[in-house]
Amino acid sequence: MRVIEVRQYGGPEVLQLRQRTAPRPGPGELLVELDAIGVNFIDTYLRSGAYPSALPFVPGSEGSGTVTAVGEGVDGFRPGARVAFANGAGAYAEQALVSASSAITVPPGVDAAVAASALLQGMTAHYLITSTYAAQAGDTILVHAGAGGVGLLLTQLATARGVRVLTTVSSEEKAALSAAAGAAEVLRYGPDLVARVRELTGGAGVAAVYDGVGAATFDQSLECVRMRGTLALFGAASGPVPAVDPQRLNAAGSIFLTRPTLAHHIANRAELEWRAGEILQSIAAGALHVRVGAAYPLEQASQAHIDLEGRRTTGSIVLVPR
Ligand code: NDP
Repeated sequence: MRVIEVRQYGGPEVLQLRQRTAPRPGPGELLVELDAIGVNFIDTYLRSGAYPSALPFVPGSEGSGTVTAVGEGVDGFRPGARVAFANGAGAYAEQALVSASSAITVPPGVDAAVAASALLQGMTAHYLITSTYAAQAGDTILVHAGAGGVGLLLTQLATARGVRVLTTVSSEEKAALSAAAGAAEVLRYGPDLVARVRELTGGAGVAAVYDGVGAATFDQSLECVRMRGTLALFGAASGPVPAVDPQRLNAAGSIFLTRPTLAHHIANRAELEWRAGEILQSIAAGALHVRVGAAYPLEQASQAHIDLEGRRTTGSIVLVPR
């Protein structure tokens, strides 16, 4: 089968097409013939070595497809089942082994590219808005990269709760997408950002900032949070944030700073099913829209990374293996 392999850390060019023998499912595993593969920012951190992993490896933790074989002890899934997963490994391939404990049944009517790219970003948006800071009607929040994969979903989930959402974006096209997702005000990054956010909140600041951009936005994010508000730093699209002196949280107004990650919010099957179920059911019901901004053939994985890191994508992006 065809896979994308990383043999050394580096730029997008290290994503190379290779042939590998198709794997067989071990105990508790499913073999899944993939229809689409979700591309996520974490794939770039693993590719570059920012998050070290053993070499060589096949990147990709997310996808959707059809179960073709099941290993010993699997009783919840059968060959022919349509499944999606978000915390797997080796998904940049025609087939992948998926632990049955991570697989989720795809409801009828949810298309393959949407199923392949909704769970990781969707469950992230879900935990941020329900568990990290459970925003409520009447709150104003700030979401950076409002037209990105997580940004569009987080905006929709928040506005559905009656939350007023301010976002940041870098272009006109992204501004239009963010507004269509429900953002009350779409702002641009830059020196005026803090003043604009203060102005839009009567000087108080926002209840929470959800910051997946990191290095470029962190200082301003801290200045945008209201007294005793939350700064949820959940990513580093622009680079990692340097060490923070806790005294800065005092000076900014007794701020709660957290650096959450999805794995800790789907740590057991019940929590995974709850978050994935709410996301997929909302999609199937037409209440949550997943924008698949681009689809690339598997062999163009490097181009997908170039576009993602170059801020040229909107919504989610997928690889298509055939
Ligand atoms: P996005 O689709 O949001 O893409 C990243 C966006 O960040 C870009 O489109 C761009 O939007 C913005 N950005 C700002 N500065 C930069 C920069 N210097 N380089 C690249 N992008 C920049 O990606 P995802 O939705 O997949 O992920 C968003 C963030 O969430 C990432 O940091 C990711 O690591 C994180 N994440 C964290 C998870 C967790 O559990 N902690 C789980 C999933 C994702 P614009 O041009 O409008 O600024």
